[in-house]
Amino acid sequence: MPKNLQETVKLNNGVNMPWFGLGVYKAQEGEEVIQAVKSAIRTGYRSIDTAAAYNNEEGVGQAVREAMEENGLTRDQLFITSKVWNSNQGYETTLQAFETSLSKLNLDYIDLFLVHWPVKGKYKDTYRALEKVYKEGKVRAIGVSNFQIHHLEDLLADAEVVPAVNQVELHPQLTQKELLKYATEKGIFLEAWSPLGQGNLLTNDILVSIGKKYGKSAAQVILRWDLQVGVITIPKSVNEGRIIENADIFDFELSTEDIAAIDGLNLNKRFGSDPDNFNF
Ligand code: NAD
Repeated sequence: MPKNLQETVKLNNGVNMPWFGLGVYKAQEGEEVIQAVKSAIRTGYRSIDTAAAYNNEEGVGQAVREAMEENGLTRDQLFITSKVWNSNQGYETTLQAFETSLSKLNLDYIDLFLVHWPVKGKYKDTYRALEKVYKEGKVRAIGVSNFQIHHLEDLLADAEVVPAVNQVELHPQLTQKELLKYATEKGIFLEAWSPLGQGNLLTNDILVSIGKKYGKSAAQVILRWDLQVGVITIPKSVNEGRIIENADIFDFELSTEDIAAIDGLNLNKRFGSDPDNFNF
């Protein structure tokens, strides 16, 4: 169990990735994303999750550079994830999209680069391009996002590099137990997106009452549950108080009964799109 924000999981290629990071979907390019990333790194976060589609890679890169300077950190102490967007999927277009992300971030390398969604007929070519940039050393690990078991099976039939991570919607109402078991067997870490159900789960009575026992908020209960069930988590906030609150989860441990009660909230309910039925 990680004891602080800097602790990492060892991915299947030996690279260390922090258990906990900041998501920046819908954080506005410019001041908003810059301040959020700098607050997070000042708080002790070491991992930032962006994507080409979030249109804030330039701000993320600028914030990372400024935060390194201000906090006396080196590039290898931070972990930056980005993703290729659906309209750029395909082999050549993904190679170009990777270079665009790298140049917008204005970093020497990206730590983790993901196929954002399993676009039918394209995701295998997209992933081959990721394997190429990985072999060239431009990215330390590669992976996928929104892949169901059948997508992973299809990909693994041809992949030379097993994805290090599968980033999926995962929270107490979508616990993804089958996918978690399958991914773990294959050496793939699951990473939870919308861990807080986009904020919708924070008034859930059971989560609130579990939190009261430990003097913690529902958000903190969920994020601690992620770590205790073995899932990397990347809650989003641009509010400094919440950025600090979300990370304050290393001084308590949920009991086995409370973990079971949270697992029991599963409804297989998505707040986001269905990976088998999306049209973007
Ligand atoms: P989330 O579950 O992290 O919820 C974020 C929202 O909850 C915030 O907008 C904020 O309003 C609220 N919130 C956060 N902390 C709070 C607190 N302590 N108290 C009260 N309210 C709080 O939702 P998300 O942004 O959708 O997901 C997190 C990250 O996952 C994203 O920023 C992005 O990096 C990633 N993501 C990836 C995909 C994908 O397809 N790969 C899709 C969606 C999100």
